Amino acid sequence: MKIGIHGLTSCYGCQLSMAIVRRLLDVVDKFEVEYFYMLSSKGDIADVDVAFVEGSVSTDMDEEEVKKIREHAKVLVAVGSCAIHGGVQSILHNEGIDYDQAFATVYGDRPIHYRGRVAEPIDKYVQVDYRLPGCPPEEEEIMYYLSTFAIGSWPEEKDYPVCAECRRAGNPCILIERNEPCLGPVTVAGCDARCIKYDIPCIGCRGAVPHDTAWFDSLAKTFKDRGMDKEYVRKRMAIFSAHHGKLDEMLDAIYGD
Ligand code: SF4
Ligand code: SF4
Ligand code: SF4
Repeated sequence: MKIGIHGLTSCYGCQLSMAIVRRLLDVVDKFEVEYFYMLSSKGDIADVDVAFVEGSVSTDMDEEEVKKIREHAKVLVAVGSCAIHGGVQSILHNEGIDYDQAFATVYGDRPIHYRGRVAEPIDKYVQVDYRLPGCPPEEEEIMYYLSTFAIGSWPEEKDYPVCAECRRAGNPCILIERNEPCLGPVTVAGCDARCIKYDIPCIGCRGAVPHDTAWFDSLAKTFKDRGMDKEYVRKRMAIFSAHHGKLDEMLDAIYGD
């Protein structure tokens, strides 16, 4: 099976995670890696069975590139919060701040001949077949996606929240017990409640969980009681998921609007 691993505008953390998966040797003989931007930026985008794409569309070049990747791939997987939701670099989305204003704030009047855009997820430009969430994705999930493609199957995306894994791990609930602004109830699982294990509230880096499933966590409904208002939760979720199409719908479900 031929695969390509591509990077648009991003921190390259997802590509790095894919490059250093310890168990990669278990499956590597199933793949021909036609393109891996981080390991070798030479070469042209080639025809592949599966293209993994990290990063958001933040420049004209990103847009051209992701369209070209799509033309050459039978299956396209968006990898990480940048590709899936725009990521931290799309924080201006919905904030009423335009690009020029932000650019001037950061760079002043320096003569910089670079023109970007407010970052967008790749599904605004191309069809995405699967989403591999995380910032970056976990090793277990990378292995799961690679393995399922290797046997001619397809991965199932998780539809339950971080709280499910947090409870299973036996952590105390820092939202209930200490009023910490933990976004575990509204964030898609898969990280094994990594931050809560270190006593840090979840900040939603894996993106919003589908709230229209039976899994949508009743803990989310306690946000209001805990003094976390709707706008506060929206802003925290928007750090990684600014373009999530169902963010407002989810908040309405929690706050009863
Ligand atoms: S999703 Fe996170 S780790 Fe991956 S490229 Fe974006 S910022 Fe980096
Ligand atoms: S709200 Fe946070 S601390 Fe509480 S169960 Fe969910 S993930 Fe764990
Ligand atoms: S606990 Fe939340 S912020 Fe931490 S890795 Fe998991 S999803 Fe990301």
